[in-house]
Amino acid sequence: MKPKNPAPSTDVPALQARVLQQQQRSAQHQATIVSLRDDLNARKAEINRLRARLDKLRLMPPDLPREERCLAPREATCPACGGELKPLDGEVSEQLEFLENVFKVIETRRTRKTCVRCDVIVRAPVPRHAIERGIAGPGLLSRVITAKYAEHMPLHSLSDSFARQGVALSRGTMTGWAGLCGNLLAPLADAVCGYVMSADKMHIADASAEVAQPGCGKPKNGRLWVYVRDDRNAGVTLPPAVWFTYSPGRKGGYPPTRQAGSSGRTPTDAGAGFDPLHEESPVREVDSMAFARRKILDIHRRHPSPVAAEALARIGELYAIEAAIRGRPAKERQQMREARSRPLLVNLESWIREQLTRLPRQADTAKMFSYLINRWPALSRYAGDGWAEIDNTIAENALREVSPGPNNDLFMESDRDGERAALMFTLIGSCHLNGVEPEAYLRHVLATVADHPVNKIVELLPWHLRVPA
Ligand SMILES: [Zn+2]
Repeated sequence: MKPKNPAPSTDVPALQARVLQQQQRSAQHQATIVSLRDDLNARKAEINRLRARLDKLRLMPPDLPREERCLAPREATCPACGGELKPLDGEVSEQLEFLENVFKVIETRRTRKTCVRCDVIVRAPVPRHAIERGIAGPGLLSRVITAKYAEHMPLHSLSDSFARQGVALSRGTMTGWAGLCGNLLAPLADAVCGYVMSADKMHIADASAEVAQPGCGKPKNGRLWVYVRDDRNAGVTLPPAVWFTYSPGRKGGYPPTRQAGSSGRTPTDAGAGFDPLHEESPVREVDSMAFARRKILDIHRRHPSPVAAEALARIGELYAIEAAIRGRPAKERQQMREARSRPLLVNLESWIREQLTRLPRQADTAKMFSYLINRWPALSRYAGDGWAEIDNTIAENALREVSPGPNNDLFMESDRDGERAALMFTLIGSCHLNGVEPEAYLRHVLATVADHPVNKIVELLPWHLRVPA
């Protein structure tokens, strides 16, 4: 039987030997741990290398066409001693590009040179990529953005279409790229905003958008607002531009940016919920005759009547005058409207009032006519202002340009996607207004914006840029 508490050993040399032995064993264990850890790290690195190679093979299958590019050092002679430079091996980087509907791999060799006299080595400048260390070239990025935001193609469909060309690009990867491009392009959209908001007159409209709510099943509501600066109808040669902004929630409310039209005329669609803007700021409201015409036309289609037909004919005459003076200077437009449109408007108003005494009060036409009389000052205001437009077609067209189709609502994957869509719509819509092809524009801008001085960002706006073919 062992004693419960053995007396401490007094053999000091034996104890010292035991401590030494244990220290040695512990050191051995430490060494094993270190070596195992090194081994593990090496294996992890190998797995990452293999994974990257696999990803790359999926993205850049060996049968994709390749294009070699070479970046050489700028120096012609040694910067230190002026000696002759001789080439050295360089490093090669690869980028996946999508040009003219075909994938290709761009192989960029960044060469080095060494001095024959001293040991100085010069290197080619680092190629700048739209996305830092990104594998996607500007052509591929602009295809993704154009497909998603200009052609309303869901990214999973784009992913399928790319897969048929042998390139495996997931929806998540492309969404990530769109986000990074959004960050890169934000200063451009801000510059467009500044340009649009500095106008004396702008056109505003809005549209509702469905916004996905993951895990909730039912989409929620968001709203897209459009602000257009376009005075070409009044003979102005300044470039037109459009700025979009997104706000979460269903409410019309007032436009999110209150500086809008603080000094100018702001035509809006009646009933779009802009009234707070008109009440609180010195904006002069110009109502939309197109809205009135559309409503009467709706009634006439449902229940054709001579009264509705005559109303349409009378509004048609006003539009004929507009067509005749389109593009004339504002002063001339004002004179023509005073001379020709004003008498027609005065007649139209009294004709409508006369009809109202005859029509049954509950008739659709009567309701519409009462509405028109209530809005008459805003509807006829354009006649006294050569800058104003008869309707808000300019803003409605800008909205239509970015909408998926007459029967499809705008759809956003999240509020963030809504903000990004507004940004992309700003650039795509401003391209359309200036006759610039958006995909080529985005390709050029994404290739150059990272190197472009931010204080000269306006040089990259669609109307300033000569996009190379
Ligand atoms: Zn040298």
